[in-house]
Parts: sequence; C-alpha cells; structure tokens
Amino acid sequence: MTINTAFSPPVGSRESGAPLEAAHQQLAEAIELLGYSAGQHAMLRAPRREMTVSIPLRRDTGDIELLTGHRVQHNISRGPAKGGIRYHRGVDLDEIRALAMWMTWKCALIDVPYGGAKGGIRIDTALYSQPELERLTRRFTSEIMPILGPEKDIPAPDIGTDEQTMAWIMDTYSVNKGHTIPAVVTGKPISIGGSLGRASATSRGVVHCALAAMEDQKIRASGSSASVQGFGKVGAGAAEFLSDAGLKIQYVSDQHGALHASGGIDVQLLDDHVKLTGSVVGFRGAEPVPHDAVLEADVDVLVPAALEGVITADNAADIKARIVVEGANGPTTVLADQMLADKGTLVVPDILANAGGVLVSYFEWVQGNQAYWWTEDEVEEKLAARMTSAYREVSAYAKDRRLSMRSAATALAVHRVAEAHTLRGLYP
Ligand code: GLU
Repeated sequence: MTINTAFSPPVGSRESGAPLEAAHQQLAEAIELLGYSAGQHAMLRAPRREMTVSIPLRRDTGDIELLTGHRVQHNISRGPAKGGIRYHRGVDLDEIRALAMWMTWKCALIDVPYGGAKGGIRIDTALYSQPELERLTRRFTSEIMPILGPEKDIPAPDIGTDEQTMAWIMDTYSVNKGHTIPAVVTGKPISIGGSLGRASATSRGVVHCALAAMEDQKIRASGSSASVQGFGKVGAGAAEFLSDAGLKIQYVSDQHGALHASGGIDVQLLDDHVKLTGSVVGFRGAEPVPHDAVLEADVDVLVPAALEGVITADNAADIKARIVVEGANGPTTVLADQMLADKGTLVVPDILANAGGVLVSYFEWVQGNQAYWWTEDEVEEKLAARMTSAYREVSAYAKDRRLSMRSAATALAVHRVAEAHTLRGLYP
C-alpha cells in the first residue's frame, strides 16, 4: 500500500478549510513527531469501517423522500467505537470521517476504553416535523443496526440531535433485539438510563480547561472577559459556567445574530430569552454587533462552540483573545492554527477541551452496564478530576517538547492508539 504523507499545502497557498484535510494534517504531524512508519500511518489514517445507507422517509404529506446517512468507525483498537450522530445541512462523508478520527484521539486522550466513530445525515432539521424526525431516526437506526451495540458502537448526540433522538435509537435497537438495552446509546433522557450531569458535561469540561489554561497563563478568572461563539448545547452552558467562575461574558452569538455588553451579559436572562424566542436576537441586555466581532473580540478567553472551520487564515490575524478553548470540533483550520501559535495564543484543542461530553458518556455507559446510577455530585467530581488531569498531562507534554497544546494532545492520543495496535498485533 502506498500512502501520501505530504499533506502540507505549499506556503502561501489557500487551504480548503475542509475538516478531513485538517484531521489528516494533524495526524501526519503526530506520525512524524513519534517517528512511526508509513504502514502505521496508513493504519491510523484509514477508517476501520464505513457504512452509507439510504433512508427512505415518508413525509407528513405522504410523499417519499430519500435521504443518505453515514456511520464511520475510525478505530476500534481500544474498545467499542464511540461518537455522536449529527443532523445538519452541511454533513458529508468526509466531514464524518474527520469527526470520527477526532473521536478516536479524544477517547484515547482522556483514556476511556473506546475507539472513535461519527454518524450523520445531511438534513435541515428545521424543515421537518417531530414525527418525520422520529421516522427518519428509526429507519437510520435500523439500517446501521448491524454495526451498532453496547460492545460494538455507541452513538450519542451531536449537532442537530438530542436526548429524544437517543431515546428513539435506543428503543428501535431494543425492540429489534427483544429486550431493553440502555447502553447502546449515551446522552439519553435520565428516566430511561441517562446519566445525571451528561447534558452539561461538555460545557463543564470546556470551562475546566479554560480555568486550567488561565491558571497556566497567570490570568485571574474573576473579572476576566470571555466571548462565546455559538449559544447552543455547548456554548450556552460554557457561558453560564464561565460567568459562575467570575468571568464577564462580553460577546455571544448564534447563527441568527451576535451581542456585546462590556459590563458582561446576564447569561441566565439571555438563556430565558433564547428559550422564548429561539435566538439571541432582540435580547435587551446587550447591543447587537456583527458576527465577526465575536471571534475577533479583545477578550481573555474565546470559546468557539459552533461548527468547524470558523477560525481561518483570513481571520486568524484578527483574533485577539489570549486563550482559545475549542468547544466545537475542528473550529480552527491548519493555517489558522499555525498563525495563532506564532503569535503566542494558547489554543486548548477540541480533542481535549470538549472531551467532557464523551467522558460522561463513558460514565453513562458504565452505569447502564452495571444498572447502578451515581449522584450528580459524583459525576461532576469525576468529570472535574479527569478533565483537569488531562489538561495538565497535555500541558506538561507540550512544555517538555516545546509543542503547541494541539500537537501535544494529538501525539499523546495517537501514541496510545498505536500502542494498542502494536500490543494486540496484526491478524493474521
Ligand atoms: N458528539 C460529542 C462529541 O463530539 C459526544 C460524543 C459522545 O458522547 O459519544 O464529542
């Protein structure tokens, strides 16, 4: 097998910003750093298994529409495949491949016994009713069922899916198997085996990382400023917990609009407003500003918590935050990452910063397998301890070897996965 290892775009060229290009480039850098062979590189680069399925959907009108769904299992060397399912109009197979690879590194980095996976359907959920989304989810689940299971591949929510989606997946899987199997998904509603603390876990993890990074940079949390791009499942919680830690949330945005308040936005009031109106637009406690102002804000901490590829070579020079904590997966392109590193911005990479979600997913799976549930305090204590120690581990590795936090995190994770490959050996 031959493999192209020269993924670096020529100097001065425009990058595509595609997530898979970034994921490949990050892996190539780690392989070089660790001194692995082209064969090992090929093994770690290619997904173990991919499934693309047609999903015929009966619309409420009676018409049939055909959608396409994917599930990519990037790696299963350390345990079952694990990762979310995304419903979004931008989904394509390459994006899912990148997100699956990042899940592998994320799970290895926080040392949960999983490989990495991701699934998705290209769909604009706003155009579909709840009954349509339920039929779509159940049909998608039944199509990919041969590769799912608590010991095979365990989905979770991602953009466009939530605990209700997980309940439908769990039910479809269980009904087909003939008994209830809660551990086939995580991020379920509490009443059917979800874990306390799972809904807020990603946001809490982001904030544990932000506070550890501020400590690293000798910035006091109290009175510092933050900007949060994306006021959804991850961003809204991150804004709330950052504000609880004493930071002023000066900028917030969602896909519809952006806000600024130099004295800090009251996150609780904003949350109430969003629950009522569906967006941050029209909130009285802050001034509307252009979207760019949120990423380019002169603040201590910037949390991109929406989609991939928002910090690019075009705007990286304008990023003024001292610390960037990646709540989203893949928000920074490769060239932008280099530009931020060159100017001394501390970037806490996605595979570390947003790992709190899959960490508590692991806790939920453990609880489901044992049919014994923990208290919210137990979950939050374990989450805080594991996130903080993972941050310190990556930070020490980065300082020792003079690497960025992203290069350190990727190398540590790739090393763990490669070690599992080597110890297990190659069959036959
Ligand atoms: N979709 C989330 C992520 O990207 C959670 C995955 C999980 O809990 O399995 O990390």
